[in-house]
Amino acid sequence: MTGLYTPTDGISGNGAKAYRCLTCHSAVTYSDRLLDIGGINRHVFTNPSGIRCDLHTFYSCPGATCHGGATEAYTWFAGYRWRLAFCTRCGEHLGWHYEAVSDISRPEEFWGILTVHLAVH
Ligand SMILES: [Zn+2]
Repeated sequence: MTGLYTPTDGISGNGAKAYRCLTCHSAVTYSDRLLDIGGINRHVFTNPSGIRCDLHTFYSCPGATCHGGATEAYTWFAGYRWRLAFCTRCGEHLGWHYEAVSDISRPEEFWGILTVHLAVH
């Protein structure tokens, strides 16, 4: 790393680790934003194509953005629909953004980011 930081890098204090995009090294989110879903914040699933997906769940990902329409198809989290999530800087696919189907579900939304696309510092 060069020591050149984007403005979002300084938001989390208290020694929280930054999770960076493995492709462009911009900060995607921080360890203090991990969110337990079903009691855990690391989840391993196998998608319909047989690909193993190992992801962390976060309540906030300042360095990620989501595109496209949300769908419930093959959702890994019952009651949530998903859309693809990408790095805001380089556009690399990072994981998924989940939003509750029902207004009364909590959390209303969260992010699932693939560990293979993250570097932790
Ligand atoms: Zn990136």
